[in-house]
Amino acid sequence: MTVNLTCTQVSALLSFYIDDKLSNQLKQFVEAHLEICPTCNAKLEALRSMIKSLREVHEKLSVVKSGAEEYAQSEQNNDFSINLSAYIDNELSDEENLKVKKYIISNPKARQDLEKMYKLKKIMQNSFDKAKNNSKGDYSKFILRRIDMHEEIYGPDSFAKVVALFIIILTVFTITAVIIFWV
Ligand SMILES: [Zn+2]
Repeated sequence: MTVNLTCTQVSALLSFYIDDKLSNQLKQFVEAHLEICPTCNAKLEALRSMIKSLREVHEKLSVVKSGAEEYAQSEQNNDFSINLSAYIDNELSDEENLKVKKYIISNPKARQDLEKMYKLKKIMQNSFDKAKNNSKGDYSKFILRRIDMHEEIYGPDSFAKVVALFIIILTVFTITAVIIFWV
């Protein structure tokens, strides 16, 4: 027996299909529909690339995080890294801001690290833009569902985290761009 699924039904099942969480029978119905429907195929591809972008962002964030931790652990850079995070959060006085800027100028390693971070942020920014573009149309619900389904990866308040992450990245990106320009 073959059941012909509608596009709406297939759309609703796509993210489960990608996760291989459908029963064999349902999977066959989805695949039968995908064979004949270019629209749903395009959705599947868009969804896959969006998930890939989200994963990339997540991986890159881990790299940045571990990099920042390494940096903080380095005694030589300890003061700077503390100031840097406050600097990024715009929590420093003008005087302290100036100190950080001077440190960046006088310390080639700090500049190198900042440039690396800058490049990394740019890649992350691009990934986010890509994910954002892919989420046009009715894909936003797929993102939300993906995030729901990946709570173990993204944490319990995943949506808030993604939003916060996005804001942090934008902030850091802007500030590093200002630093690079200023230097
Ligand atoms: Zn279809």
